[in-house]
Amino acid sequence: MLKGKTALVTGSTSGIGLGLAKALAAQGANLVMNGFGEVDAALAQVKALGVQVSYHGADMSKPHEIEAMVRHAEATFGSVDVLVNNAGIQHVARVENFPPERWDAVIAINLSSAFHASRFALPGMQARNWGRILNIASVHGLVASAEKSAYVAAKHGLVGLTKVTALENATSGVTCNAICPGWVLTPLVQKQVDAKAAALGISNEEAKRQLLAEKEPSLQFTTPEELGALAVFLCSTAADNVRGVAWNMDGGWAAQ
Ligand code: NAD
Repeated sequence: MLKGKTALVTGSTSGIGLGLAKALAAQGANLVMNGFGEVDAALAQVKALGVQVSYHGADMSKPHEIEAMVRHAEATFGSVDVLVNNAGIQHVARVENFPPERWDAVIAINLSSAFHASRFALPGMQARNWGRILNIASVHGLVASAEKSAYVAAKHGLVGLTKVTALENATSGVTCNAICPGWVLTPLVQKQVDAKAAALGISNEEAKRQLLAEKEPSLQFTTPEELGALAVFLCSTAADNVRGVAWNMDGGWAAQ
């Protein structure tokens, strides 16, 4: 379905981003990957799907590096047809204790990076009259949890940015939508599981069970594969007129 197209997925060396990169590659898209950590292993998993893969190590908190990443994608494959703004970090503390530099980092990486990547990628999409921007928000783009002020503010902001981007391109072939996962068992969430297990003196399994029970009626983690299938749908022709939605895949979390 995406053969001949190029997808740029930020934060795709791990977790959800890697799952989305694999789902888009399975549809034939060439991939530009980004992120830190186990870069070679992540690239190998996507290359194994038979598409061309390139990597750019831009730091999503730095606008000039984001521009260089988009230009690298265009120079390597000729276009950015699908932009997935996925890179994100978390910090957990009450507002009065929240370190200001952590606030700035969460806003920069989880929200401002999507603005910058979109503003650099949009002109090419508009010129070709086809494009898909997928903003990986969160159920925290729709509802709040205590001790996540920066994350909730960034994700609500990302849902707002999604709607504006969708409206500004509504008469074109460029769509923009947000995906709002509940709990997905990635390194980002494993850290919160570990913190809960340590704080309460409980096992990792019990901490996972309690984490789910607090928020997610299905008592199940959403998987990167399920999110990948939703991303593929949003890139399909069937989704040509899906514009500005914030689609939660959260086991019923936001329905409560
Ligand atoms: P993760 O920690 O497994 O992956 C995060 C990715 O972002 C990694 O590739 C990391 O290297 C990259 N990254 C972090 N800082 C970066 C920076 N400054 N520049 C470039 N890359 C950077 O996390 P994840 O759970 O897969 O989260 C991915 C996205 O999904 C995030 O935006 C997160 O908020 C969102 N999300 C996650 C969950 C969940 O339960 N895991 C739920 C809802 C939304």
